Amino acid sequence: MLYRGPLSSCNYDCPYCPFAKRRDSPEQLRADRAALDRFVDWTVANPFGDKLSVLFTPWGEGLTRSWYRDALVRLSHQPHVERVAIQTNLAGRLGWVAEADASRLALWATYHPGQTTRERFLRACATLDGHGIRHSVGMVGLPEHLDEARAMRAALPAGTYLWINAADGHGYTADEETQWTDIDPLFGYSVRPHASAGHECWAGETAVSVNGDGLVRRCHFLPEPLGNLYDGSFRAALKPRACPATSCDCHIGYVHLKRLGLHEVFAGGVAERIPANLPTWGTPHQSIRSAAHL
Ligand code: SF4
Ligand code: SF4
Repeated sequence: MLYRGPLSSCNYDCPYCPFAKRRDSPEQLRADRAALDRFVDWTVANPFGDKLSVLFTPWGEGLTRSWYRDALVRLSHQPHVERVAIQTNLAGRLGWVAEADASRLALWATYHPGQTTRERFLRACATLDGHGIRHSVGMVGLPEHLDEARAMRAALPAGTYLWINAADGHGYTADEETQWTDIDPLFGYSVRPHASAGHECWAGETAVSVNGDGLVRRCHFLPEPLGNLYDGSFRAALKPRACPATSCDCHIGYVHLKRLGLHEVFAGGVAERIPANLPTWGTPHQSIRSAAHL
């Protein structure tokens, strides 16, 4: 289940993001908190007796808000919640993770050069490692961040996956694609949209998107409602079916496109974007040389 409530503010100022330094009014924050609490209560009650996996995908940054931290801790202690994860810039304090069940909590952490330093971000990753919290690290594949991405790859523990998202609206030459693939061997999945029309997708069958009102859709990218979470009406609409959209170009969507087989690639880590078998990147010689160059 992907959950996205009304929250749309962020403490960072990324030039490529419409939510940079946006502020929510006190009323908007209260509404976001109430919506999240309702979703968490439903997930704890689990009226259909399912095994659940939850990824919070706020428009902005959630972990600077106590109610997202509390939600992650609470859901991590539910036996029927196999994984609870959140997309985050990892800027907030992380002491709260000590209260969570580390076997169920995971973070999808994105490093935004220019908003924080590599050293600070790595310290946060080390804190997560110290608490045994699974996490992936990602970056946007902007040309000006290539050297920084190489340095981040060289500095991260070998057991931490660094994913690269193709930058929106940016074309990659074959050479550029190779350079990014040296850092993230799965970059090829991100660099081109995936034709999806007529192809079956787990979204709408075993995966759903939920908004703050409880409106359930197949995914964040298709507007048609399946029903509502809180009246249970969505449940009868879950079934195998093809995607009506021409293409799917966001990882949280195409990870469910059946023909790609990404549920196998990310088995056990679909929510937090961690592959089952960590890929190898470049060669040790290349990594060391890149780091030394910087
Ligand atoms: S950290 Fe994420 S939400 Fe915040 S400004 Fe950057 S891209 Fe946008
Ligand atoms: S392929 Fe993408 S757009 Fe189509 S149903 Fe799946 S997630 Fe949604």
